[in-house]
Amino acid sequence: MFAHGAPGTLYFDANSIGPMPLDAPERVRRLLDEGWRIARRRGWNTSDWLEQPRALGAAIAPIVGAHADDVIVCDSTSVNQYKLLRFALDAATCTGAASARNVIVLERTVFPTNRYVGEGIARAGHATLRDIDGPQDLDAALAPGDVAVVALSHVDYRSGRRLDMAAMNRIAHDHGALVLWDLSHSAGAVAVRLRDTDADLAIGCGYKYLCGGPGAPSLLYVHPRLQARAWPAIAGWMGHADLFAFEPHYLPAPGISRHLAGSPAVIANAAFGAAADIWAQVEPDALDARHRSLTDTLIDLLDAHCASFGIEVTSPREHARRGGHVSVRLAREDANIDALGQALVAAGVVVSTRKPDSLRFGVHPLTTRHADLWHAVERLTDVLRSERWRDARFAGPTK
Ligand SMILES: *Cc1c(COP(=O)(O)O)cnc(C)c1O
Repeated sequence: MFAHGAPGTLYFDANSIGPMPLDAPERVRRLLDEGWRIARRRGWNTSDWLEQPRALGAAIAPIVGAHADDVIVCDSTSVNQYKLLRFALDAATCTGAASARNVIVLERTVFPTNRYVGEGIARAGHATLRDIDGPQDLDAALAPGDVAVVALSHVDYRSGRRLDMAAMNRIAHDHGALVLWDLSHSAGAVAVRLRDTDADLAIGCGYKYLCGGPGAPSLLYVHPRLQARAWPAIAGWMGHADLFAFEPHYLPAPGISRHLAGSPAVIANAAFGAAADIWAQVEPDALDARHRSLTDTLIDLLDAHCASFGIEVTSPREHARRGGHVSVRLAREDANIDALGQALVAAGVVVSTRKPDSLRFGVHPLTTRHADLWHAVERLTDVLRSERWRDARFAGPTK
């Protein structure tokens, strides 16, 4: 189903770029040849280019616990975050709540793009931001009754902590606010239950666990009860109710399609199609069980073989509280996590690091094997025992 990487290399970077489906190159080659070279303009009519955003969304909908009609794939995660935050602000105003709701609640340690997008919206005068230190502060942040939307990462990009989606949704809804979930570190790694937990809105990276390919477009979910409540943030022709009527004025498409602003990324979507066909056959509970088994084993191995060298697992121990990757830190005075990460990459274990002190093992439930975990921990133990990470060649910036 998936192509092998370089021989001898163990990949633990599904949290950055997921593995390549075996037939992705052939699909892209065919699109370029039959679509671009031969069909050209006719490709819009004779191929499924226009339907791809919905078809890809429908294929991945089950693993995020959504109905096929409620997910599309388009644009980057950052752009979709902008679109749905603005949509949420409009939707909140449209509910006729007593006072205007214009506050966006964000976690202080959220992934930078989530904060930057929020800051841009606030700077343009569309909202004000309110920071929380963690989920324990959510109730107090919502108490004034002025919050339109809470933007949360389902799984934290550093620690791997997974939030209780149902509980957060309930708290927000009790205060009349919406929740926008960023699924970048959970979609394709663990079972996500958008509909069962009554989630309002979600976005999620297409090129990480979802294996859409470098720079792949992102997923966008809107609960059906909200879909018609407001205009999309970008009222583009692809989101018009009657695309080819070329009407002089905008009329939003009835469902989720209104969030398709411009033309789809046809070449990127061809690559993503290879992954989508795989996802359409994956049973969410089996994915979750596989992820649990892999990450539990990895944590056990790290505890058993690396703890004496100062390696501490910082991801939550309980699987329900843990998402895509397993994070560790090196608990010593002279630790240099970037150097350790580079030494491990040089030993053929592709991991990633995040300041200040996280080293991340991004296992992929569809491609990582239990034996890979043994070999990776063996190589890590060797790097730690030999103190090779102190070599000058690992002291520079991460490559
Ligand atoms: C990787 C990631 C993104 C990616 O954003 P793009 O705009 O698609 O590059 C967004 N949010 C989080 C939490 C991420 O980890």
